[in-house]
Amino acid sequence: MTSALPPSFDLIVIGGGSGGVRAARFAAQRGARVAVVESGPMGGTCVNVGCVPKKMYSFAAQHGEDMALARGYGWRVPDGIALDWAHLKRVRAAEISRLNGIYEGLMSGAKVERIAGHASLTPQAGEHHTVQVALTAGGTRALQARHVLIATGGRPRMPQLPGIELAVSSDDMFDLPVFPKRLLVVGGGYIACEMASIFNGMGAETHLIYRGEQPLKAFDDEVARFVTHEMRGHHIQLHLSAVPKALTRLDDGSVRLTTADGRSFDGDTVLMAIGREANTAGLNLEAAGVATRDSGQVQVNERFETSVTGIYALGDVVGRMELTPVALAEAMALVDQLYGPAPGKAARQMNYDNIPTAVFTHPAIGTVGLTEAQARDRHAAIEVYRTDYKPLRHALSGSASRELIKLIVDAQSQRVVGAHMVGQDAGEIIQGMAVAIQAGATKAQFDQTIGIHPTSAEEFVTLR
Ligand code: FAD
Ligand code: NDP
Repeated sequence: MTSALPPSFDLIVIGGGSGGVRAARFAAQRGARVAVVESGPMGGTCVNVGCVPKKMYSFAAQHGEDMALARGYGWRVPDGIALDWAHLKRVRAAEISRLNGIYEGLMSGAKVERIAGHASLTPQAGEHHTVQVALTAGGTRALQARHVLIATGGRPRMPQLPGIELAVSSDDMFDLPVFPKRLLVVGGGYIACEMASIFNGMGAETHLIYRGEQPLKAFDDEVARFVTHEMRGHHIQLHLSAVPKALTRLDDGSVRLTTADGRSFDGDTVLMAIGREANTAGLNLEAAGVATRDSGQVQVNERFETSVTGIYALGDVVGRMELTPVALAEAMALVDQLYGPAPGKAARQMNYDNIPTAVFTHPAIGTVGLTEAQARDRHAAIEVYRTDYKPLRHALSGSASRELIKLIVDAQSQRVVGAHMVGQDAGEIIQGMAVAIQAGATKAQFDQTIGIHPTSAEEFVTLR
């Protein structure tokens, strides 16, 4: 509601996840009076049910796989090693609680007012915006500010299928009451492939059920083929062209998934990992006049401005690239735009080119820049350099696992426009390649770089 008095806040941030926390903290450091409204634990998806617990469980799986491979190096590893699922869940929960506390501390340290509750917008009635909060502790509170940031993230999308209540989403996977002996994973994107690799590595019989012909189709074709071949080599059972039709409970308590072409798969747990949707429930966007796209994501321009002056949105709720570092970078760009850059620094702007990413499958994908197909579309001529090899760490392990490294070069400028890897630590290695590509490195400069021997990463500078 409007008033002649100044509002109590300069900025109200709705959502205490990756983007919201970053925006709130840095806006406050520039002198803004900031409130952050969060309905759950601080840290959002990434900290509570995303990147962080996922990576912890990926490490758990990797340790198990490595123990089996250690036999080749002379370790006497007893048969029947098994994961203590209750222990893993307990230590994960304790570590996540510790991180939640750190995020709370970041807010109080930056003098951001942290309000626990569910926020909704109200139609603007004057120069300021009013956000209504249904407080977690009970009651409501109305907050006024000049600017409002919607950073409410996303949530798992569940298909409309008979028996869908028998399936779980990625949010549930970290705390399953019982470790699944047989896991069915529906989907073929980041979450499906990561969860399949993780639970397979932790000992579940894992079936990946994908509606198309080639999972991970957003990635370079050869990379996607290579990693799915490796996943099969790790004993993940892949079922292609399998469109889910219904789920039913069987007498033994397990769940049967049937597909449109009449196949059926039985599992103790069925994970639906078919994408995510904007988390805008109860935000009152329509009444407040905030326009959304057909996909449900909040519509913004390149300055994160929604259709209502003074209301901004970023991160997964906008969905340009649903990655934590993207939400963080968008938040920094918005803070610079609203409150000016840090002293002595230029204002940051978002650039969505060359954003590196990793898929924490086993082995992992690391990728930055253009795929081969994208490079062929954008450049008159390209050069492709690739190698696949047996990594030295498997010389004695007995594993048949191989790795892939691939560089895409614009033939005319000789700039490297894409770097891709499938292999252990691919994400760690590709982060450095992203700096080189961002700096405009040419193939000749890669070639002039001395390798670190013996590593897998040295393949990037020895491709001829
Ligand atoms: P979020 O982090 O989702 O935060 C939004 C917050 O808003 C939530 O805490 C929510 O409770 C709160 N909220 C929503 N509505 C309201 C309301 N009305 N009132 C008050 N609070 C509200 N990205 C990577 O870069 N690397 C990875 O390895 C990775 N792994 C992932 C694994 C999984 C399983 C998932 C699901 C995601 C993963 N991501 C990963 C993606 C990453 O988590 C997201 O891109 C990132 O968290 C987006 O940040 P955000 O601030 O936009 O939203
Ligand atoms: P993705 O968009 O990556 O993949 C969705 C998958 O589900 C696709 O394979 C798609 O098939 C399939 N699918 C879609 N609709 C249906 C349906 N109705 N029935 C059956 N299958 C369907 O989404 P995710 O949920 O895996 O992940 C969401 C986002 O979260 C990612 O895009 C990424 O940005 C982020 N994330 C990042 C991670 C990281 O950085 N390591 C890890 C996890 C998540 P098709 O291919 O045919 O379209």
